[in-house]
Amino acid sequence: DAFKIIDLFNKELEKHGIEKEVKVVQTGCFGLCEAGPIVIVYPEGSFYSQVKLDDVPKITEEHLVKGRIVQELIYKEPGKKEASDSINNMGFYKKQQRVALRNCGVINPEILEEYIAYDGYAAMAKVLTEMTPEQVVEEIKNSGLRGRGGGGFPTGLKWDFTRKAEGDTKYVACNADEGDPGAFMDRSVLEGDPHTLVEAMAIAAYAVGAEYGFVYVRAEYPIAVKRLQIAIDQARENGLLGKDIFESGFNFDMEIREGAGAFVCGEETALIRSIEGGRGMPKVRPPFPAVKGIFDKPTLLNNVETFANVPQIILKGADWFASIGTEKSKGTKVFALGGKINNTGLLEIPMGTTLRETIFEVGGGIPNGKAFKAVQTGGPSGGCIPEAHLDTPIDFDNLIQLGSMMGSGGMIVMDEDNCMVDVARFFLDFTEEESCGKCTPCREGTKRMHELLDKITEGKGTLADVDKLESLAKTIKSASLCGLGQTAPNPVLSTIKYFRNEYEAHVNDKK
Ligand code: SF4
Repeated sequence: DAFKIIDLFNKELEKHGIEKEVKVVQTGCFGLCEAGPIVIVYPEGSFYSQVKLDDVPKITEEHLVKGRIVQELIYKEPGKKEASDSINNMGFYKKQQRVALRNCGVINPEILEEYIAYDGYAAMAKVLTEMTPEQVVEEIKNSGLRGRGGGGFPTGLKWDFTRKAEGDTKYVACNADEGDPGAFMDRSVLEGDPHTLVEAMAIAAYAVGAEYGFVYVRAEYPIAVKRLQIAIDQARENGLLGKDIFESGFNFDMEIREGAGAFVCGEETALIRSIEGGRGMPKVRPPFPAVKGIFDKPTLLNNVETFANVPQIILKGADWFASIGTEKSKGTKVFALGGKINNTGLLEIPMGTTLRETIFEVGGGIPNGKAFKAVQTGGPSGGCIPEAHLDTPIDFDNLIQLGSMMGSGGMIVMDEDNCMVDVARFFLDFTEEESCGKCTPCREGTKRMHELLDKITEGKGTLADVDKLESLAKTIKSASLCGLGQTAPNPVLSTIKYFRNEYEAHVNDKK
């Protein structure tokens, strides 16, 4: 429908003879999926939602020709009496700060000039003409940027390790595998602002001494793959990739490798194996990829969102970035908000924003007047956080302390109708299915946990089974080889910790 709406707008503009004054820009996602297809009229920032073909002539004639906003078509946020006059006053956007998503929903991702008009490739030019590789690494280190793919490892340190690793050939790689159900922040950057990844990877390659890069994207993201390929081709045609970029003597090129959709391929050693053409299975670390990565060469691996922050850090400076967020988690974080929430969509908020602000202000609260019960952060292996902890500022360390994690940024909200034992079983279904089978604790343990959960939910379990489930979950967490197995028990452990009463309600020897 969105494409038809664009065509019709162009026709209507021509009909009214204003096609030179008003430009229709096709963009990537602007976050509020709930309200799509969206049409935003600038400079007013009027936000038309769920636009239908029939609405196009009216918006054109009333708003674009006569300058009168079509109030009945403006998006009204759930629970609000009045529609906001501008996108800047909408609850969903007010608390957001878009750094990684800065161009998503703003520029046409298939037009290089639009990216350049928004400072695109200026960071790369600055790096190649004014900075040494060491200075670039130092800038990223000073910014305090941590990996957005889940681990939260300091990005600058990773760059430093790769830079200092011995080897004539080095690689940079981007993890765009994004396997968490419900998470689509990487997809959104690739679909809405692919040049930012090309630019950031070139900067990273210069910093660590690499000349070639790989982007590992899931094949289930055809638009992301297509737009990234367009961006790579455009960059090549315009001397932004290839030999002697900006006459600096720096050479860099890159390619896309499509993954077949195994969740475990988001784990870095499995991803590297898959890029090499092998079966994606994790390996024991060390050696870490910074020392021995793709084809056994030192490899810098970051995810899409991490890279998307890099050009802004270079342009605005490490101090600017470090001024956003909390003491140990700098910058912003993108979350995919879903479940029982009014504003389903993609949002980017400063680290340190509380869970309550995120769910009730940005997210617009729980639909149908229901009570909030829990929020699960971090994808299928994240923990479920209850109401009592809603005032916790979101950062890497706080979420781990609560028995959850940042993960790649999935955030699923549950209301009073959700049974937390069912929720735990639902997520375990996924991780059990996605276990690669290499190590026993994860392969066998997730199955045994599932059996215990089945027994409990069928009313055949006992209190001893709940204890056994908890103990098994702890063993799997500590004994599994990779992140998948180490985090798979989180939904079970956190729901037993915070909602033990719901497990007890299911068993047949209630206290
Ligand atoms: Fe494979 Fe699970 Fe072991 Fe990871 S923890 S290596 S996914 S079996």
